Amino acid sequence: MKKVQVYRDGAIRTLKPGVDVDAYLARHPGAIEIKKVPCIRTLERWNSDCGCRTIDGCWVEPDGVCEHGYPSWLSALGMI
Ligand SMILES: [Zn+2]
Repeated sequence: MKKVQVYRDGAIRTLKPGVDVDAYLARHPGAIEIKKVPCIRTLERWNSDCGCRTIDGCWVEPDGVCEHGYPSWLSALGMI
C-alpha cells in the first residue's frame, strides 16, 4: 500500500493506512500532499544554487517561505 505523506502545521506527517488523503486535506485547510521528498543530492544542488523548492513547488531562498506559506524543503527537513 502506498504511503501518503502530508505537510501540516510545520511537520511532515505520514497518514495512517486507510486514511483518505482527499478527506484529510478537506478536514485540514493548509495541509498539502507531498508527492515526492527530494533526494539529498537534489537538496545539495538547490543549496549550491542559493535557492530551494518549497513543499508546494515554489522557488525561494534556501531558508525561505513561499507566498503560499510553505517552507523550503531544506527547512522542512530540518537541514538548515
Ligand atoms: Zn508556494
